[in-house]
Amino acid sequence: MKTVLLVEDDPFLVEIYNTKLKEAGFSVEIATDGEEALKKLNDAIFDLVLLDIVLPVIDGWEFIQKIKTDDRFKSLKIVVLSNLGRKEEIERGVKLGVAKYLVKAHHTPSEVINEVRELLE
Ligand SMILES: [Mg+2]
Repeated sequence: MKTVLLVEDDPFLVEIYNTKLKEAGFSVEIATDGEEALKKLNDAIFDLVLLDIVLPVIDGWEFIQKIKTDDRFKSLKIVVLSNLGRKEEIERGVKLGVAKYLVKAHHTPSEVINEVRELLE
C-alpha cells in the first residue's frame, strides 16, 4: 500500500483529502504544519507528500528546501496543492523539483487524487 503524507492546515481540506485518499486505497498520515511534517518523515517512510504552501511554523517552501537537500528523501515525490497560483510561484515550485504543482482553485479533489494516483502507479 502506498503511503501519502498530507500536509494541510485547513481542517476542512484535511477532512476532504484524508477521506478521498483513503477511498483511493492509500495509507494516509496528516501533518498540520511544516515542522510536524518533517517529524513524520523522520519516523516513517512515505511515497508522496501532498503539500500546502501557506502553513504555520515551517511553510511549504522551507519544507521543500529541506527535503530536496536530504539524500534520504531522494525518491519522495512532492505534490504541491496551494492557493498560490501566480506564475512566479508555480515556477518556484518547479525549480525546487516538485513532481506537480496544483492550484487549489483549478482542481477538484477528485482531479487531485487522480494526479496522485498517476504519480504512484
Ligand atoms: Mg494553508
